Amino acid sequence: MKYKSIILIIFLISLFSLSQVHAKTNDLTLLGKIIYLDAGHGGIDAGATTGKNLEKDLNLEITQKLATKLGEKGAIIYLTRDGDYDLADNQYSRKRSDLSNRARLINESNCDLYLSIHLNSSTDPSWRGIQVFYNKINPKNKEIATIMTDAFKTMTSTIKEVKEDNNYYMYKQITVPGILIEAGFISNSSDLYLLKQNKYQNKLAQIITKGVENYFQK
Ligand SMILES: [Zn+2]
Repeated sequence: MKYKSIILIIFLISLFSLSQVHAKTNDLTLLGKIIYLDAGHGGIDAGATTGKNLEKDLNLEITQKLATKLGEKGAIIYLTRDGDYDLADNQYSRKRSDLSNRARLINESNCDLYLSIHLNSSTDPSWRGIQVFYNKINPKNKEIATIMTDAFKTMTSTIKEVKEDNNYYMYKQITVPGILIEAGFISNSSDLYLLKQNKYQNKLAQIITKGVENYFQK
């Protein structure tokens, strides 16, 4: 009798473990997808600033949270930077060299998707909100930008409409699919208040992950 009970317990534990494994497999919605994350600026290039708040730092914090969330879904994540530095190898045209190297790394990776994370800034402090930009170099970019914008609409009313911009030096060199996300205005006090919070950064990462899932699942 005792022996049978032990067998039953082992059976139940196995069943429980199997269901756990099954649930985890179902969560791997991005299994094997290669995603390049590009945290804008870094090192001597702070990006936009408001007081002591530097765009480069907030970009990196959001990007790292995004890397974790996408990784949990099974995606393979590459980062153009994982610390406070730029990618320039030519000090005479530092900014251009930094952007060229980011574009080259992303192109050479042959990734399924790239997401460039930046913050916006305006001389008008009332301007706020998230906006997704795309370059028409890859026909998939507009679709990705639209799907991502729709995902943001479920989170915030400050999301602006998708915008085509073919002038950014970096993005017109990137041939693989991807977008630029301006995750808010560092020059707006309401946006900045939110962007500095871990909780809000995680929420952004969660919504962007949802947008990526929607794109690959369509
Ligand atoms: Zn920027």
